[in-house]
Amino acid sequence: MEAVEDPRLQEVARKVESGERLDFSDGVAVYETDDLLGVGRVADLQRRKLAGDEVYFSVNRKLYHTNVCALDCSFCAFYSKPGDTDAFEHTPVEIGEKAAEYSDVISSVHIVGGQHPAWRIEYFEDLFTEISERAPDLHVKALTASEISWIAKVSDVSVEETLRRLRDSGLDSLPGGGAEIFHPEVREKICPEKEDAEGWLDVHRTAHRLGVESNATMLYGHIEDVEHRVDHLLRLRSLQDDSGGFSCFVPLSYQMENNELGEAVEHGATGRLDLKTIACARLLLDNFRGVRAYRMVVGEKLCQVGLDYGANDVGGTLMEERIQSDAGSNVDQDVGRDEMLHLIRDAGRVPVERDEMYDVVERFDSEARAAGD
Ligand code: SF4
Repeated sequence: MEAVEDPRLQEVARKVESGERLDFSDGVAVYETDDLLGVGRVADLQRRKLAGDEVYFSVNRKLYHTNVCALDCSFCAFYSKPGDTDAFEHTPVEIGEKAAEYSDVISSVHIVGGQHPAWRIEYFEDLFTEISERAPDLHVKALTASEISWIAKVSDVSVEETLRRLRDSGLDSLPGGGAEIFHPEVREKICPEKEDAEGWLDVHRTAHRLGVESNATMLYGHIEDVEHRVDHLLRLRSLQDDSGGFSCFVPLSYQMENNELGEAVEHGATGRLDLKTIACARLLLDNFRGVRAYRMVVGEKLCQVGLDYGANDVGGTLMEERIQSDAGSNVDQDVGRDEMLHLIRDAGRVPVERDEMYDVVERFDSEARAAGD
């Protein structure tokens, strides 16, 4: 590729052009190069080969059943302890009512929460049953792998039985949270009480076997280094080779405010790191349908630039998002369809509204780009 200057990146470009799979050293080269424009060119080529020009978005609503959590991960600004003034606990009926409220304009609900010290699997079976009865067409994406592990532990049942019972009561897919950074050198510092990497991967492996698809995430821009990020991406690729059940990879740029880890981190992720992470994901995760530029964590403008760095998904219009906003994200939460269409069309791409299984809800034309371009 002529416009790529760094010799290590030229080797990555050669492999992408010839369809050769990238390895650990290629991922490190993407992160270490100074040639950011070259990274974009190589990742964009990979995106065009793997995913075409369509950019996916969805219209959904975030719901939180509780913020009470037995753990205290150092990067988290969301959790409360029982009895705290800001602690909240919703009943299954309340969550069912909230889900049904917008069911004529949204295609899915996304439900996550704290790891409640006392709530057993029956609470979650009731919750999904309530939603299924009130809004049978809504796709229910809920509970991170960490939450699934926790519910299994509190309920004294296996992960497989937990997933099977929740699926049978209305759970459709899992979000990708809780992955953080897999490598124990980092994981043991930022979330020592969470299950280890193999535990997280095993929940997803089991879910995929039971027909429950899922997303995957990586929390970057704190105390991890390049090797930890590349290791994380390759562990995801390896599971996807085996199970094929991941839909989308969502890079989560660490938000520094209102959490303990922020005191140990001098600077959060820069725009260059955000773009390189999107690009590295697209280059290494050659078996994932979607790579997201998540506007709630990188902001609308960088999200749009991310479409030139390998992204083919901009996520959802997330009404009532809290996890990122509690930790400092000030991105407007209630962005609607029109704004999504404009953002994607202005990048010269084709907007496609999707559901959580990447089935097309509506394919839009790409229309003229914004005036002044
Ligand atoms: S990240 Fe999740 S498990 Fe960790 S403290 Fe926050 S709510 Fe609890």
